[in-house]
Amino acid sequence: MKYIVGVDIGTTSTKSIAFDLKGNVITKKNIEYPILNPEPSWSEQEPDEMLSAVVESIKHVVAENDARGNKLIGVSFSSAMHSVIAVDEKGKTLTNCIIWADTRSKEYAEKIKSSELGHEIYMKTGTPIHPMSPLCKLCWMKDNAKDIFEKAYKFISIKEYIFYKFFNEYVVDYSIASATGLFDIYELGWNKKALDLAGISEDKLSRPVSTTEVIKGMRSEYADYMGIDVNTPFILGASDGCLANLGANAIKPGDAAVTIGTSGAIRIISDKPKNDEAERIFSYILTENHYVLGGPVNNGGIIFRWFRDNFSPLEIETAEKIGIDPYELLTTQASKVEPGANGLIFLPYLLGERAPHWDANSKGVFFGVNITHKREHFLRAVLEGVIYGVYDVGRALEETTGSIDTIYATGGFVRSQLWVQMMADVFNKKVVIAESYESSCLGAAVLAMKALGEIEAVEQVEKLVPISKIFMPNRENHERYMKNFEIYRRLYSKLKDEFVNIEMLQK
Ligand code: ADP
Repeated sequence: MKYIVGVDIGTTSTKSIAFDLKGNVITKKNIEYPILNPEPSWSEQEPDEMLSAVVESIKHVVAENDARGNKLIGVSFSSAMHSVIAVDEKGKTLTNCIIWADTRSKEYAEKIKSSELGHEIYMKTGTPIHPMSPLCKLCWMKDNAKDIFEKAYKFISIKEYIFYKFFNEYVVDYSIASATGLFDIYELGWNKKALDLAGISEDKLSRPVSTTEVIKGMRSEYADYMGIDVNTPFILGASDGCLANLGANAIKPGDAAVTIGTSGAIRIISDKPKNDEAERIFSYILTENHYVLGGPVNNGGIIFRWFRDNFSPLEIETAEKIGIDPYELLTTQASKVEPGANGLIFLPYLLGERAPHWDANSKGVFFGVNITHKREHFLRAVLEGVIYGVYDVGRALEETTGSIDTIYATGGFVRSQLWVQMMADVFNKKVVIAESYESSCLGAAVLAMKALGEIEAVEQVEKLVPISKIFMPNRENHERYMKNFEIYRRLYSKLKDEFVNIEMLQK
């Protein structure tokens, strides 16, 4: 049997999954690595540790498939966005891998964002001006790590580092490039104004190529170690966010993919890039004909976890005793409260927020507390607030790109019927749960199938992702939620300045 390995170089681990050509998982291997925080605002990872996780996980799935007599036809990659590594002329790292969560360039991002040039660069590159963006990271490095900045031969992402090790060549796929803040998504080339602002010339960056680009001729020491032929096709692939849409089958006009795991995101696919004058959403490349537009939220499932860990000791104890998940007990409690939590509204911005406000100072708020509210109202308001946060971005997306009909949901929140139904009701749209939980790896494998001529169009992913459940919206609940949501929306703009004041108090 033929198989493809989809490799997802993520933030907590690298996952390699072997898929057959019908999209079934044959075997998988996950290898974790830590996030390093040498300073409070810094988030880094060790490039060689990530390289080793990639190599070892591929080696593992290849060995298992060899034992079954299966034939490897390609390896394709998903990777987290926004990483930066400075390397010297010999390819030796001068920095760790500075990841998306790093906020050291916050002041640079604020300054660029408030300038006209910043707006112009966003409109060309599709990447929101934010400390996550390599553009802002390079601006920081230029002033604060001068030696490294001047010595650097290239500035690359983790995927480019791995491809360089394997093939001795610096290449970057359009998808990863489109999340750097340096790449013109209309022209498919590096953007001169962004490069000037970052203080670099084009030769400091890799050669941009299509996400279905195939590379062969691997250095034999790596091929031998992984037990594969040096001419095995390696497909560049795309970013994890873009591939999550593809792997969840949210690829047709009107489809949206919503993920609520620790953080969250809502994304749609468009055949053209479209940028938002108000700078609320991103526009990244999946292929030359598929642009992924959307917004990430910091405050996803982690907020439910916060409520569980800080306000639910009894539930945790009881759940342990009866052998169920505490989240299940908590969602049952929340289901006893009517939609709208009797007028209690929660702003979930405990971790500041990216889309739609891109405001690191924003905070959480319970609003409208009255004497009838009990603990479970607070619990329900928390679950509703997380959904309002994603819905707010969904509305911005619809304003920019046209209406959404169906939501394909993924991430830990799909384990709760109550929470998914809440999403269907708040959005007033059908929500589909796909069976695949490994959407980024599957998305990478689908790009490989296209690149290798096994399928004609990536839209054929539809046949590879079975649907496990559909939730239909309830109109009456939608109307109730909308009354709260209108207040929710106004609260942020009314409280914006106070968030800054409280932030100052904490300094
Ligand atoms: P990650 O983004 O780290 O991969 P997951 O996708 O596993 O995380 O999502 C974890 C989140 O999913 C938790 O923080 C929690 O909010 C939510 N979650 C997990 N299990 C349940 C459940 N049974 N009911 C409701 N929510 C759940």
